[in-house]
Amino acid sequence: MQAVHPEEMPDALKASMEKGGVQPKLQKEVLRLSEFHTYPAPGVLIGAFMVDYALELLSVTPDKKLYGVCETPKCLPDALQVLAHCTTGNNRLRVVPIGKFAITLNAPSENETAEAVRVYVDLGKLKTFPVIDIWYANSPAYDKHTMKGSLQDEIFRAGRNILSSEKVRVTVKKKKTWSSVTCPCCGETVPDYLIEGDRCGACGSMKYYEKI
Ligand SMILES: [Zn+2]
Repeated sequence: MQAVHPEEMPDALKASMEKGGVQPKLQKEVLRLSEFHTYPAPGVLIGAFMVDYALELLSVTPDKKLYGVCETPKCLPDALQVLAHCTTGNNRLRVVPIGKFAITLNAPSENETAEAVRVYVDLGKLKTFPVIDIWYANSPAYDKHTMKGSLQDEIFRAGRNILSSEKVRVTVKKKKTWSSVTCPCCGETVPDYLIEGDRCGACGSMKYYEKI
C-alpha cells in the first residue's frame, strides 16, 4: 500500500492549492481526482490543469458528451475520467501508449473527423519551474523523499503555465454493428468483429489466465 505522506493529506493539499492561487472550483475537482486516484500524484495534479484548460479551449462543460484521448496510461486517464467524464466504460476515453504527457479532447461529430484541442506539457515552459522540470525528466536530481512537497507547491503555482495547446483533427470512431459468435474452443460468446480467425481472444492472442 502507498504510504500516506503529510503533503498528500487533503488539508495539506488544500493549503498548497491556496498558496498557488488555484481557483476554488478547480480545487474541488483536484480533491475529487486525488481521492479517485487514491493519492495526489504529481501527474494527476498536472492532468487536472490540462483537462480544465482543454474544456475552456473547447468552450464546453463536462455535462456535454466529450471524447478524450491521452497519450500515456500514467495518471492522465484519471484526470479525463473525473474532470471530463470520458471513461473507459462509456467508451469515450482512448489511451494511446505513446509516452507523452498530452491529451486531446473533442465534442461529438457526425463526420469522419472532429476538431479537437491537444494540450501538452511544454518542455520550454518547464525551465522556469525547476522542480517540475527535474521530476518530469525523471532526473536523479529529483528526490521524492525530500522534494515531494515543493513539487506539489510548484505544480499548483505553475497551473497552466507549463502547458501549451494546439488545434488538431482526430478520426471519429463509428459504432460497429455486430452479431454474437460462439468460440469453438471455450464455448463462450463474443462479438463477431473480435473473433481471431477461428477463436476468441482469450483462446488466442489475448490469453491472460489459466484455469486452476
Ligand atoms: Zn474461446
